[in-house]
Amino acid sequence: MNTTGDTIAAISTPLGEGGIGIIRISGEDSFRIAGEIFRPKKNIDPSEMKPRTMYLGSIVDPSSGEIIDEVLLVKYRAPFTYTRENMVEINCHGGFTVQHRILEVVLSRGARVAEPGEFTKRAFLNGRIDLSQAEAVIDIIRAKTDRALKVAVNQLKGGLSDRIREVRQKILRIIAHIEAGIDFPEEDIPEADPDTIRGEIRGIRVELEELLKKAQAGKIMREGLSTVILGRPNVGKSSLLNSLLRERRAIVTDIPGTTRDIIEEYLNINGIPVRIVDTAGIRETRDAVEKIGVERALETLKDAELVLLMFDASEELKKEDREIMELVKDKFVIVVINKSDLPEKLNADEVKSAFPGKPVIRVSALQEKGIEELKEAIYRAVTEEIGPVDEGVIVTRARHSQAVKNAVEALERTESALSAGIPMEMVAMEVREAWEQLGEITGDTVREDVVNAIFENFCIGK
Ligand code: GDP
Ligand code: ZN
Repeated sequence: MNTTGDTIAAISTPLGEGGIGIIRISGEDSFRIAGEIFRPKKNIDPSEMKPRTMYLGSIVDPSSGEIIDEVLLVKYRAPFTYTRENMVEINCHGGFTVQHRILEVVLSRGARVAEPGEFTKRAFLNGRIDLSQAEAVIDIIRAKTDRALKVAVNQLKGGLSDRIREVRQKILRIIAHIEAGIDFPEEDIPEADPDTIRGEIRGIRVELEELLKKAQAGKIMREGLSTVILGRPNVGKSSLLNSLLRERRAIVTDIPGTTRDIIEEYLNINGIPVRIVDTAGIRETRDAVEKIGVERALETLKDAELVLLMFDASEELKKEDREIMELVKDKFVIVVINKSDLPEKLNADEVKSAFPGKPVIRVSALQEKGIEELKEAIYRAVTEEIGPVDEGVIVTRARHSQAVKNAVEALERTESALSAGIPMEMVAMEVREAWEQLGEITGDTVREDVVNAIFENFCIGK
């Protein structure tokens, strides 16, 4: 089965030096190409090589007869392959040059370079996996924590797809029921009873709404909880980030305003990926370079799900502190009082009364004290906010939750149409809309541009 006809090839291992490198070829011509460039050590004809068996031999440039590398080569026969096309994998030595030379020879025999994600895209187009499973492949590669990985693996196994298919099946039965009444009024098929249908629709809508309730947790597992460390210059934001990460990435200095760039790092807090951003302090500045940092900080604040609002224990509250306190009034805030190793001059009570009920944690970024307490406070705050994070079926992508939301809305319109006694033809259209929206998740009804956008996010060779 080959939907496109051409044969693609790519280096599938990360660029640079490694123990081994893998070049993958997929498509109609892969076996022919392998036969032309591979010389097995055992004296057999390449066409007699059995699938799923590793053969030791050499890659030879047929135009010059030059041996490029000693490799292990495996053929995989369609349809039992990743792409469902004939595939060849060449395991060569891991160097940059050798992998590129082999790829060049493969291309010179008629393959073309694979686009990012094209192997997985073919797996989708050839029906081996659906769209949400293809997306899970990216999520597995990019998973930030062990638990995030489990969520993605569950999605690859079809956890989300199965649920969505079940719901679509139910919707389809309702459509069939309604349409049978419309299309064959003369044959004794009774017109669908609006009340019964409405009850069924409501059941499906509630089920989808349950799925949406977990969407925020799903998003956090996939993308990380976006967290920003906010405070005026020199309170110790970079130092805190460093002690959270236990490695010195951000620049720490005594001169206010040296964190020029926003630095992003992932923390693993009990399996919840927390994406922490260290920003330049928010303040008026005439320094152009730092200004970019401040603007981006405000930008980041907009997207931040959690704010670690930082104060310097050794100094009284300043005008800048108060300005920042105003900015985050409506945010999900944990107050962090840093430099607790120094004598306290901070008006801590004023801070506390500005954020009633919010956790207040004292730390010393310098002495790495209070860091565990801070991590615990983050974990507690997250689970209170989004509920328990489990690895079950969850909607992790904005694309998926949007489709579910659209379906829910279409079902709501159906319910009111049924109550209002709107003709069944119109009702059927709304139900069909819900069915199509859900199909976008699995890729059953998805548009081509959506598919392309998804696979563009992959790396080459996947
Ligand atoms: P930022 O501008 O908010 O990112 O602050 P930095 O992390 O660059 O720190 C500013 C200064 O405060 C540096 O000299 C740090 O060594 C110092 N500092 C940071 N945390 C602490 C702390 O917990 N105790 C003390 N005594 N000094 C700290
Ligand atoms: Zn800094």
